Amino acid sequence: AAMRETRTKKTKTVCTFCGVGCSFEVWTKGREILKVQPTSDAPANGISTCIKGKFGWDFVNSEERLTKPLIRRGDHFEEATWDEALDLIANKLGGIKDQFGGNAIGFISSSKVTNEENYLMQKLARQIFATNNVDNCSRYCQSPATDGLLRTVGYGGDAGTIQDIAGAGLVIVVGANPTEGHPVLATRVKRAHKLKGQKLIVSDLRKHEMAERADLYIHPKQGSDHAWIAAVAKYMIEQGWHDQTFIEERVSGFDVFVKSIEKYTLDYAEKQTGIAKEHLIQIAAMIHEADGVCVLWGMGVTQNTGGSNTSAAISNLLLVTGNYGRPGAGAYPLRGHNNVQGACDFGTLPAWLPGYQHIADDAARKKFELAWETSIPANPGLDNIQMLQAIEAGELKAMYLMGEEMAWVDSNANHVHDALSRLDFFVVQDIFLTKTAQFADVVLPAAPSLEKEGTFTNTERRIQRLYQVMEPMGEAKPDWWILREVANRLGAGWNYQCPGDIMDEAAVLSPIFAGVDYARLEGWDSLLWPVAKDGTDTPLLYTERFNFPDGKARLAPVEWILPVQMPEAYDLLLNNGRLLEHFHEGNMTNKSKGIQHKFPEVFVEVSPELADARGIAEGTLVRLESPYGAIRVRAVITDRVQGNELYLPMHSVSDQSAVNLLTGTATDQNTHTPAYKQTKVRMQVIEKSGKN
Ligand code: SF4
Repeated sequence: AAMRETRTKKTKTVCTFCGVGCSFEVWTKGREILKVQPTSDAPANGISTCIKGKFGWDFVNSEERLTKPLIRRGDHFEEATWDEALDLIANKLGGIKDQFGGNAIGFISSSKVTNEENYLMQKLARQIFATNNVDNCSRYCQSPATDGLLRTVGYGGDAGTIQDIAGAGLVIVVGANPTEGHPVLATRVKRAHKLKGQKLIVSDLRKHEMAERADLYIHPKQGSDHAWIAAVAKYMIEQGWHDQTFIEERVSGFDVFVKSIEKYTLDYAEKQTGIAKEHLIQIAAMIHEADGVCVLWGMGVTQNTGGSNTSAAISNLLLVTGNYGRPGAGAYPLRGHNNVQGACDFGTLPAWLPGYQHIADDAARKKFELAWETSIPANPGLDNIQMLQAIEAGELKAMYLMGEEMAWVDSNANHVHDALSRLDFFVVQDIFLTKTAQFADVVLPAAPSLEKEGTFTNTERRIQRLYQVMEPMGEAKPDWWILREVANRLGAGWNYQCPGDIMDEAAVLSPIFAGVDYARLEGWDSLLWPVAKDGTDTPLLYTERFNFPDGKARLAPVEWILPVQMPEAYDLLLNNGRLLEHFHEGNMTNKSKGIQHKFPEVFVEVSPELADARGIAEGTLVRLESPYGAIRVRAVITDRVQGNELYLPMHSVSDQSAVNLLTGTATDQNTHTPAYKQTKVRMQVIEKSGKN
């Protein structure tokens, strides 16, 4: 056994949970985590952290960690050496490529791994297999926001810093619950609201904590945010409350845009959204009077059939009111995972090379082809959703998946499980034997953030370094090491000795990272992309120009896409989302004793009126059934939800309680992001008495 470590080591790291990107010191003795110590040097959070960042690290030492490669033998896994596992992967994937071509393989990257590892995943797909079939979990959450911003302002990222939001005169939160999803960012907004007179509007189905404190809370009908946003834009233009100078100088497409919102009168919006006309006028007036407006949005917008159009509508509203290019103004999609921004930035997207260089851009593609001595298809590859369809069609034979719980995170889980079990060959690289890994042929033990180096990019586009706190557990390895070894067995000749080498290459090939360099990211230093070659970074976007050739923003004439219709028998709307204590599917936070103690069991929130009508008491066990599956959960009665709307936290999944056993097949039309928020169910009481 290793000698017991007696020294206390203090190492800077970046939080592994949400997109706020808090950084702090982790104090350790050997593998024992003594404490998490924030410092005022931390650029995104200063001395703040939330419960997850402070106490959510037990998973690193969990006995359930994978510590050896596993190879499937019939219906069980056997431990293998790294050489055996890597050789098998190279042989199988190489063989499938020879027989069916590289497009018969799909690569799924991760928002939990570093930028460098994401870069290598897409390089593996494109260089070695000549396929653009590479995607990451932003497909399940933020792709619509990225799409809406790429269409209107040109960069798929937050307009400014988290600090800038505090300087806004008005913050509008649409379909997001920052108090629980992005706690440290929420604290900044709450402080500005309380102390600096910042105004706050919240639009959400659920009256969560931030909604409670808002100056105006609106409850739109499910999936109807687009209609009220377009109506407010139209009304403001009619009142002459738009920013004429800003539009003339910096925006194109105004006339076409005005025509496109003709039908969104106040009457129409009131009818479609259920929001009173007076409230719509009040919102318009608040925007008009505010010195700077920031709009923050999340999954309540994006996980709808119209998610990307609504995101574009938000950006349109900000453009016509001149709310871009200064602190305290602009669009802030709230990134969920700690590195969902970086995963997209570094090219694990079927249509985008690293640094948002489009795959159809010949010059950009040629640059990568030359550097990597390969040829890359000019057409976008398959996204996550299309990969599953291609498995069913017999076209996709193999998948290589890194750090993604696809079996529980994708919608319509029964269907996903079926598709995964049909693959000829499936590699999963993770820190636990996840539900997804149980479908794999080879499982590789990866190292979590504390056990490796690299960089993460938070929701502000801020790139920060993490340093190795402890050695990988058992035989686990950093994801970049694993990818390098797989690639080299297929003849890649990758020479990277450390993540810094990978970043150097990404910087050469991607103009937005031109000046990104580990030396400039020492300690608490950070850089917000785009970073010029001389190291000048960009905390605030669009001060001079928008990211289009003519420098002008583009108003997008977008239509509101109506929510999917469901058979009447499914009479209840099942909203879903996060809890403060937990993170996503719960693979990490479920292994934290402190968090498990506080939140032992999943539950569904039921409104008092619905509980009355159905004879449901606190703790009553209910069965929820959709056309796609059924689960059992206990009821919690609360007026955070209204009428026939239920709310199910998305964590703590199991075969009995996973929300995605209920979610369906509808997606956003532009990005294929599942319309998780448009789930209808019927509810049956199983056990009347309740547990109390
Ligand atoms: Fe981590 Fe987000 Fe909490 Fe910060 S706010 S400590 S990044 S989970």
